[in-house]
Amino acid sequence: MDTEYILGIKVSNLTLEDVCRDVIFAVKNNQKLFIASINPEISMVAVEDDEVKKILNNATHNLPDGIGVVMASRILKGGIKQRVAGIDCAEALCKTAQQNNFNVFLYGAKKGVAEKAKENLQKKYPGLNIVGVIDGYEEDNEKVIEKINSSKANIVLVALGGQKQEKWISKNMDKVNAQVFQCVGGSFDVFSGNSKRAPKIVQKLGAEWLFRLIKEPSRFRRQAKIPKFIHLVFQERKIKNRQARKTR
Ligand code: UDP
Repeated sequence: MDTEYILGIKVSNLTLEDVCRDVIFAVKNNQKLFIASINPEISMVAVEDDEVKKILNNATHNLPDGIGVVMASRILKGGIKQRVAGIDCAEALCKTAQQNNFNVFLYGAKKGVAEKAKENLQKKYPGLNIVGVIDGYEEDNEKVIEKINSSKANIVLVALGGQKQEKWISKNMDKVNAQVFQCVGGSFDVFSGNSKRAPKIVQKLGAEWLFRLIKEPSRFRRQAKIPKFIHLVFQERKIKNRQARKTR
């Protein structure tokens, strides 16, 4: 798998098929996978917080989740051509689990949301083993770990929101017997039907972030960092070009 660095953060150049193939291998060979999603928002957090940066750079798969990351790769003459949305990956993992008889656990979101997400996912993928759910506000972490372990989950989808979910996986993945961990942000809210994704055409145009901003104006403060992200990417390009000229 190709990887490149954008503002010092690892991003994987992969497709959903690559991820699913690696997931099947990991479950069958009892290896750990940590799938994170890289977008301008989490990148800006990582630029300012070394702990988050370290966690992201230790993940095994860093999906190019935002159109901003695809643009950044283009500006830096990288190879990432298309976005791989975390929510599409979560669904692809459910489909892979259905086809291979793997067990899935849903951890996160408000009370009742993961149950509803489970119901809808099982309707869409009949026979899918969702072996347990727990909301994202349980304070007793030992209880969370114990519940996931006793469910015999192979794949844990973690929906605790940006930073919290990455930190939780990094801290706990060795204590949990599952093989695959994915940060899925607000995906359970969508799977449960509580919130809607942008129409397909908007997704294709790379404007899903704008759709979310219009629906949830409270995201403005977080998304206000996108121009700074782009500015830093252009600075990085300048530095790279200067270095390339020096070595010529
Ligand atoms: N969430 C949670 N526990 C927390 C904080 C958030 O379970 O302590 C859930 C929240 O209910 C929502 C999800 O995390 O379902 C993702 O939130 P957000 O839309 O902020 O995701 P992001 O944009 O950060 O991926």
